[in-house]
Amino acid sequence: MDPIPRYSRHMLLRVIGEDGQRRIEQSRILVAGLGALGSVAALLLARAGVGFMRIVDQDAPELHNLQRQVLYDEADVHRGLSKAEAAFAHLKAANSSIKIEPVNAEIGPDNVDALVGGVDLVVDALDNTRTRYLVNDAILTRGIPYVFGGAVETVGNIMTIIPGKTPCLRCLWPNPEAVENHARASTVGVLSSGAATVASLQVTEALKILSGHEDQVLSGLLVLDVWRGCFHVAPVRRNPQCVCRKFEYATEA
Ligand SMILES: [Zn+2]
Repeated sequence: MDPIPRYSRHMLLRVIGEDGQRRIEQSRILVAGLGALGSVAALLLARAGVGFMRIVDQDAPELHNLQRQVLYDEADVHRGLSKAEAAFAHLKAANSSIKIEPVNAEIGPDNVDALVGGVDLVVDALDNTRTRYLVNDAILTRGIPYVFGGAVETVGNIMTIIPGKTPCLRCLWPNPEAVENHARASTVGVLSSGAATVASLQVTEALKILSGHEDQVLSGLLVLDVWRGCFHVAPVRRNPQCVCRKFEYATEA
């Protein structure tokens, strides 16, 4: 008797199926940031069989990360590996059949185009607005779908951006400086389960796109508070003046 296929539980799903799983295995993605969100997103997407993952972070795991960054353990902290190197080892242990490219670097204007180059999707697991806007603009230029996520305290946001079709981050927040002053995990904390929830929802959005169901992504900004058990989708409109309007041609070709 043939063994049960590795991805059978996704192949059995009506919403993914064998065709969707094959598409996932042929996909190439960038996970931008390997903190709380990136830990969960990278683990689930590696286990889902995404064929190629570029994983990027400039930090090393620290003891205070282990409360929520489930990709690392105490040995990683003591060995002083970068997050990219430690994540590479753990993801390979979870799924040796996929290709993983670890990049120990800070995403900036000089490397953002190279990092988003050649991928089908970007998962945003970043912790600052300036870098998010760099990635937002880079994916618009190249027509690459982008799943934004953010988590702080007990709340989180998720929005999926399809260039040329949906609002982008600049449509949502035209002024990056105003957003940058919002609370950060390093000052107000972040609930581990809140970050994991946001990342799980980002993975769900990513799997929709990678399996060929881009038409089923979330419409608007999903806002949640896991402590209160509240989830709602706030409508977001495309801003006629936004830079993303220039890239409408990208999906019309
Ligand atoms: Zn926009």
